[in-house]
Amino acid sequence: MSDCPFCAEPAALAEGIELHNALAYVREDKYPVSPGHLFIIPRRHAEDWLSLTLEELGAIILHIIRFWLTAAIAVNSIVKVIMLKRKRTD
Ligand SMILES: [Zn+2]
Repeated sequence: MSDCPFCAEPAALAEGIELHNALAYVREDKYPVSPGHLFIIPRRHAEDWLSLTLEELGAIILHIIRFWLTAAIAVNSIVKVIMLKRKRTD
């Protein structure tokens, strides 16, 4: 669709991370509800989440994991979760 606002892929995220492949890509929300709020968009137009192929779902999950492992905000969140779990087991 030529008039689709999600088909025009932005160059990069603010953190300098580029997350894209043949099946899906990540872009920032112009009006984020919280820090790190992103859109993960499949390249193929689909009716809903369940209409995506396993490969497309895998690409989306991979982008999520890569962003969490790379972005400073997300890494800090993961570290906090790990620290909370350790406190509970001590
Ligand atoms: Zn589109």
